[in-house]
Amino acid sequence: MPSDVTLPYNGLTLDRGPRTDADWLAGALDDGQILAFWQDRCLVAGGRPVSLPHTDREVVFLGAAQAGVFATDLSDLDAEAAVREAGADAAVDIRGLFGDLDRQEAATLAYARGMLHWARNQRFCGACGGRTAAEQAGHLRRCQDCAKLHFPRIEPAVIMLVESPDRRRCLLAKHRGATSYSTLAGFVEIGESLEDAVRRELNEEAGVRVRDVGYQASQAWPFPSGLMIGFRALAATDDVTVDHDELTEARWFTRDEVRALGDGRPDSIESYLVETWLGEG
Ligand SMILES: [Zn+2]
Repeated sequence: MPSDVTLPYNGLTLDRGPRTDADWLAGALDDGQILAFWQDRCLVAGGRPVSLPHTDREVVFLGAAQAGVFATDLSDLDAEAAVREAGADAAVDIRGLFGDLDRQEAATLAYARGMLHWARNQRFCGACGGRTAAEQAGHLRRCQDCAKLHFPRIEPAVIMLVESPDRRRCLLAKHRGATSYSTLAGFVEIGESLEDAVRRELNEEAGVRVRDVGYQASQAWPFPSGLMIGFRALAATDDVTVDHDELTEARWFTRDEVRALGDGRPDSIESYLVETWLGEG
């Protein structure tokens, strides 16, 4: 089992420590990098993320490299005004930039997108409806009425490569509305372990019962707030019974059949799970 897998969006080296150091932060914004987003989209000029020279807006501190790296959200503007204010020429989905970014840039932009998404959706307290205000450089929001603390929310999801009992085929499915085949995945529900979630999802969506469930790797997936936890599972039988609410099709594929499908999501842990399995046969 791999222990040091570095998947896309993982391995960010920014030092998050200074988020609680008010003195350090006070001076860091002047010579820091300020990434700008609009509605989960990164503002870019010539295909490169823009850095604002300064801003009076609320910022989230992402971490320190040589200088501080911050992000700010221009979502209160319309798209055209946001692009203009940032000196950008477009607002783009960072997954579309993936091939042009180095590992650290991709991880930084994904993290920025996730933090800003959370802040924008946590402006009000879920307990009393009061306004929240940022603390710890945007890593915490406190309700101004009832003082409840709100921390960035992460939603864990399991994703699994399921092998047939003879280990010669793997299970892929076509989700409703999708054009390509993919591994099965689903959110972990309250009261479940990760392994429970793997077993439930496979049983509910594909009627597949598994014997062994083993952890493979995890991946930061802040689109908007995910953590993907990858597993390998071994089916107890060849039986597949598709739940047509979620899937249009699910069946076993040989390695040759999987190779013929190509790699549709190169930045995803799915690609790692599939490629690892292909490499074993
Ligand atoms: Zn409150």
